[in-house]
Amino acid sequence: MGIKKVGAKPQTLVEKIFFLDFIKGLKTTIKHLWKKVITVDFPYEVVTPPPRFRGVHGLRTVDGTENPEFDSWVKRLKIKPPEPGETRCIACKFCQAACPVPELFDIQSEKLDVPEGHPHYGLKVMTVFNMDLSKCTFCGLCTQACPTDCIIMTDIYDLSSYTRRSWVLDKDMLTQIANDFVARRGKEKFDEKSQWREDQKLWPEYDRTREKLWDFNMPKLGLNYHDQTA
Ligand code: SF4
Ligand code: SF4
Repeated sequence: MGIKKVGAKPQTLVEKIFFLDFIKGLKTTIKHLWKKVITVDFPYEVVTPPPRFRGVHGLRTVDGTENPEFDSWVKRLKIKPPEPGETRCIACKFCQAACPVPELFDIQSEKLDVPEGHPHYGLKVMTVFNMDLSKCTFCGLCTQACPTDCIIMTDIYDLSSYTRRSWVLDKDMLTQIANDFVARRGKEKFDEKSQWREDQKLWPEYDRTREKLWDFNMPKLGLNYHDQTA
């Protein structure tokens, strides 16, 4: 197999004498010299991302703004009805099921140790909720799968760390992050009933363009598709 060597185009004599390449480069620099700077000098300058930004996760707590199905999910999963300020997580693991890297989650629940006849007998609480964000792709699918709007993504993007261990966030840390985010920017992210605002959803209802593109490109025949022309 022959190898074709590709090198830089040799300069002409005129280009060499008059430094034409240098002048071209300088022209580009001067052209951009007076334009508005769009980069920031991180970490000395920081930007505030839009509320739809998919940054570090958080776990929301019960604050009276849960969706209408919240109580029925709590009953269905046999979870102790949470008090205000306690986590909305019902340990259903839908977030983990939706995640392309499910092993980054460690979600566990335990039955309450109460005697028979106690109102909470036979009910569970979520006990462990760890997320290893070093494996996260920040796709946001977990937030869309959560039936209680518990898991959210915030505007925190600085994940730099000296240890891998610090990327594993537990339920207390995730709860603190969500509480802080909701207090700071909740109004931008959620409506007056604290439900997701339409423009903050990962797949907003009005975003039909992508759906149409997919319809258009859907294969008619293939190993994994039925013959739709039949
Ligand atoms: S953002 Fe995506 S990759 Fe990260 S935890 Fe959620 S579903 Fe998994
Ligand atoms: S989907 Fe929501 S409620 Fe279910 S385990 Fe995940 S965070 Fe908890």
